This record gives sequence, C-alpha cells and structure tokens, in this order.
Amino acid sequence: MFCMAHQPIRTCIACRSKRMKYELLRIVRTPAKELKIDVHQKKQGRGAYLCFNQACIRKALKKQIIQRNLGVQVPPDFEKKLLTVLNGESR
Ligand SMILES: [Zn+2]
Repeated sequence: MFCMAHQPIRTCIACRSKRMKYELLRIVRTPAKELKIDVHQKKQGRGAYLCFNQACIRKALKKQIIQRNLGVQVPPDFEKKLLTVLNGESR
C-alpha cells in the first residue's frame, strides 16, 4: 500500500513550497563543483529542488537563488537545459 510517511518532502528553493521529492526537479552540485540537473535524483553532491514549472526555474535563475543555495556559478546555458528537461519530462 502507498504510504505517505515514506515519501520525503523537499522545499522548492524559488517559491518555498513543500512537495514530494519526486514532484520536484533536483539540481546538484557535484563533488567536482559542476552544476547538473539530476533527473533521477541519484547523483552525489549537494542538491537543491525546484518545482517543475517555468516560473520557479526563471525565478531561481533571475534572483540567483541557485548560486546562493549551492555556492556555484550557474552556466549561461543552464536555463535552456532546465527548460529542456521541463518540456521533456512534463506530465
Ligand atoms: Zn517552486
């Protein structure tokens, strides 16, 4: 049986809303200090979570929330990558 207690909750770094971990997009700072989109939520490193929507992605980039949370520079093409994942994974 599906059990809510086993679903980890994470907070979106842009809008601060709490959601199930699997409903969010995970971004990770790898041990090599690269910024990656962790589609399967399994990569090692420090992670941050964003809602699966353009508003939160844009807000996080515009207000430099990712930099502040993960302490890395966001590459110029990162927004495009995020939006590609968003479009490819939209449910
Ligand atoms: Zn959000």
